[in-house]
Amino acid sequence: MTSPEPFPTDWQTALVLVAHPDDPEYGMAAAVARWTGEGKRVVYALASSGERGIEGMTPAECGPLREAEQRASAKIVGVDEVEFWGFPDSDIRNTPELRAKITETVERIAPQVILSLYGGPEWAPGQPNQRDHMEFAAAVLDAYDALTAHSGEVPAWLFENGPAATHAVDVDAQFEVAVRSLAAHDRYLSVLDPDTPVLDQARAQIDRATAPRDDVRVAGFELKRTR
Ligand SMILES: [Zn+2]
Repeated sequence: MTSPEPFPTDWQTALVLVAHPDDPEYGMAAAVARWTGEGKRVVYALASSGERGIEGMTPAECGPLREAEQRASAKIVGVDEVEFWGFPDSDIRNTPELRAKITETVERIAPQVILSLYGGPEWAPGQPNQRDHMEFAAAVLDAYDALTAHSGEVPAWLFENGPAATHAVDVDAQFEVAVRSLAAHDRYLSVLDPDTPVLDQARAQIDRATAPRDDVRVAGFELKRTR
């Protein structure tokens, strides 16, 4: 695999499109912290509220809790604009309704950069992706392609946070803030793994997600579309 290129810098607004709360926090948020620190605008839009994500909690209890954890997490990396679309957690499909919501959001926010979820079948051999993620990522690509065909007025770059990075952001200085942003999903992580303190879980995950390349921690992104 060739070395990733530096991530573009000549843009002002990025839109992060994901399926569930905590999806931005495994690597993307480190880059987001860097960008907001440079004065760029980043907006999070989440298809679902992750209301089926905490064992032992009803969706009615879980949804608002996870929204609150996501807002807290976003704030830590300098993101104040977070929206939830209310599509059903664990049943996110590439439907016309989802594609229409993606299109409407892209037109309203008018970003130059879209960061979407990885849509491939496996993160690595034996590590399958989730169906919600794959369907959601396909909907983002389809919506982008339809916008391209319809108006040509599309964001300049569309990336996924996949394992075969084409572009990388140096996030050496953002490691601790990325750990804290993931750890803001406190209830979610403490139920997921009750035996490991949440900060330790977060540190291990961010360590993996920003594994150093030439001694520098990076957040990697796969370029999927460009104008
Ligand atoms: Zn997810």
